[in-house]
Amino acid sequence: MAKASDRLAKLRKAYPPRFVDSRGVDRVQRLYQSLAPVLPPQIRDLCSNGLLAIGEVGRSTPDVEKISFKDGSSMIEFTSGMMDFLDAFARVLSGRFVRDTVSGPRNQPALSPDEVAQQIEDLFIQWKVQWKWYERWFHKSGRIRSPKFDTPDDVRSWTNDIVSIAELFILAHEIGHIVLDKGILLPLTANAEKNADTIGMILVTKLPSIGREDLAFRFAGAVLAIRIIVGLEKVGVLFSGAYPHQDERLTSISAYMLSICPSRQYFHEISRIAVAYQDMMDTVEGKIVKPPDLVRADTERIIVRLIAQLLQVAQSRVGKEKLITDIFRIAEQTPVDVMRQVGDTLHKYYVAAPLDESFIDQDMKKKMGALILEVLSELPEQVRMMLTR
Ligand SMILES: [Zn+2]
Repeated sequence: MAKASDRLAKLRKAYPPRFVDSRGVDRVQRLYQSLAPVLPPQIRDLCSNGLLAIGEVGRSTPDVEKISFKDGSSMIEFTSGMMDFLDAFARVLSGRFVRDTVSGPRNQPALSPDEVAQQIEDLFIQWKVQWKWYERWFHKSGRIRSPKFDTPDDVRSWTNDIVSIAELFILAHEIGHIVLDKGILLPLTANAEKNADTIGMILVTKLPSIGREDLAFRFAGAVLAIRIIVGLEKVGVLFSGAYPHQDERLTSISAYMLSICPSRQYFHEISRIAVAYQDMMDTVEGKIVKPPDLVRADTERIIVRLIAQLLQVAQSRVGKEKLITDIFRIAEQTPVDVMRQVGDTLHKYYVAAPLDESFIDQDMKKKMGALILEVLSELPEQVRMMLTR
């Protein structure tokens, strides 16, 4: 038996995984089964020959680890604590108002974004408290509890899909290391972690359609995975693998997403959900880490955030006042040159209406263009000056 399969079997015997189905398949093996159709055949062969062992181990500390053995076999292990945390996270997120899709459900909010940020903060803090207790008593820590509140089924399924993508991305990243180690693909950069992220993103975007805004969901899921790992690190979780700084990770996966979109505008339009999660996780992190990290004025994110809001107002889902209030808030915190770039880009996308291929259809783009002009005319002179030339 290959060393990796042997080691994983022993670990699973000592620490039985939680949530094994009737066929003995655990949550991580189920993730592998979802990913299998898009994996290089060499990886599937390694798995069927026992040279790559993948599974869940019933430890409570959130961790994901890839270990290579001398006989050339490898093991990818997720702890049950990691899977529990992600499951709890999915449940918290389902409280979030699902409004960021073009065609998705239009439910009333179960919780406001602030309340969701609070719940997520609680989840991280709860984990931190359990971890301290675990350290002190050197004993099995309790399981992560999920908050309980009723959410409509379609919202639950929406958020479960996003978190499933996050889970698949984490596994795809680890498999990406194996793809590189075995020379199945050549490295794109000198940094193994960034390469693994890019391969993870490639695999996740190849998954069969789930009938939603696929690219937007795939990107948001990967961004969320990275932000969850960073959040856990910030409350003291030490992961076995070393991850680069989140900005670098987000830059690599964004570059890949941009490369597969037909235009920059298309990329900005499908980034709406990812940016909404970025904003939400900034709020959470700002509260769990003191002093909060300085948030830099990020041109790309402001563009995407305003696209999301323009779209919602144009679809009559949100009132115009909300957009105007947000523009004021952004203008207060953002240098003039950044505001001007944002204004130029939005003008180019929706007012000048170029022939660039976009995700949002022509009619909606026209409405958004008219809305931009309307909002500009209502803004006070000094704010309008920031956005226009
Ligand atoms: Zn890695």
